[in-house]
Amino acid sequence: MRKQITILGSTGSIGTQSLDVVRAQGYSVFGLAAHSNTELLMQQIAQFHPKFVAVVDDAAADRLVRELQGMSHAPILLRGKEGLVNLAAMEESDIVLNAVVGIAGLPATLAAIENGNDVALANKESLVTGGHLVTKAVEEYGVKLLPVDSEHSAIFQCLQDPYSAKSLKKILLTASGGPFFGKTRQELEHVTKQDALRHPNWSMGSKITIDSATLMNKGLELIEAVWLFGLPAKDIEIVVQRQSIIHSMVQFSDNSILAQLGVPDMRIPIQYALTWPERCPGPAPELDFSLLQSITFDKADEETFRCLAACKRAIETGGLAPCAANGANEEAVRLFLEDKIPFLKIGELVEGVLESDSFGGDYSVENVYECDAAARAYVLEHA
Ligand code: NAD
Ligand code: MG
Repeated sequence: MRKQITILGSTGSIGTQSLDVVRAQGYSVFGLAAHSNTELLMQQIAQFHPKFVAVVDDAAADRLVRELQGMSHAPILLRGKEGLVNLAAMEESDIVLNAVVGIAGLPATLAAIENGNDVALANKESLVTGGHLVTKAVEEYGVKLLPVDSEHSAIFQCLQDPYSAKSLKKILLTASGGPFFGKTRQELEHVTKQDALRHPNWSMGSKITIDSATLMNKGLELIEAVWLFGLPAKDIEIVVQRQSIIHSMVQFSDNSILAQLGVPDMRIPIQYALTWPERCPGPAPELDFSLLQSITFDKADEETFRCLAACKRAIETGGLAPCAANGANEEAVRLFLEDKIPFLKIGELVEGVLESDSFGGDYSVENVYECDAAARAYVLEHA
């Protein structure tokens, strides 16, 4: 039987690269979900023949209904946020790859797990906002949570030997440093969204590209790593590796270090999540060491890039603090992309929301959405 895959966020950067992997591996597509890009979704439907599609935006779903009319073997259309969750929950898929952006991906992650589906997780915001709920559900329902984020895939790959994994001491989480590496706060005062959207090594969706420029992405990834690998934040060191060739490293009790290397191509970690525990030939090219002049290391500048320091504080505080930081960031990035706030304001708003409450205690899924809404309201009030 060919593996049945569901891809949530199929029209995005990770979604389209996942379909490259699906094509290369000859998998069958069970379901596709997107927010509103029906033009690309129609092309994907024609090529991959999913049984179900979910479209979150209402007007886009209406458009798709019209476009699917008369199509032979048209997929069944599910609509809205509920449609996304219902698709994630369908037990016929072998694995659900969640490549939705933002906290909008959390309900689908939980629904997939609670219905016994393995999850390949690109949507780091699921773990940042609901880490405690997601990890508890993974344990309860006995499913696999396979990291797609390149750094976490690297760490996961380095931990495949169970004997070594037992003596994991430290994670060295690599960061490219983004387009503004080495800049001072003064130099960043007037940078534009065009400057921030120019990432040196990766071509990604706009939200994560801005997160890479503010280093919020590394902060989110630090929180993601705490939940995935069970080490406290103090044992996760951020190492700037400008060329994005070393995707992360792990250090064991004897101070021996393992690293995972490769070209900066997301199809490697995507494919590993889908083929795990096997490795297979795939669409990503080889790393050519003769073209690689150097691999450099630097320290991350937390004074300039406040989001990283804020995320460290948030995970140390625990409870809903990471969720608040994430909600504030999502809203602030949206405002920055609409030219409504300057670049440095993003970090100030994330810091500000963390100072506005204590965020302690255990939490429920309702608390997560309430906290997210409150953080967004804080940003709108203080922007
Ligand atoms: P993107 O913006 O390119 O794509 C996002 C996808 O999610 C699109 O298909 C869009 O239709 C869908 N979407 C957007 N809002 C939605 C909503 N409210 N409900 C349902 N679907 C919605 O983003 P991306 O760069 O592919 O990133 C996706 C996720 O993967 C993010 O969490 C990001 O942090 C993570 N990630 C991305 C990369 C990368 O290289 N792009 C690397 C590591 C991790
Ligand atoms: Mg990453």
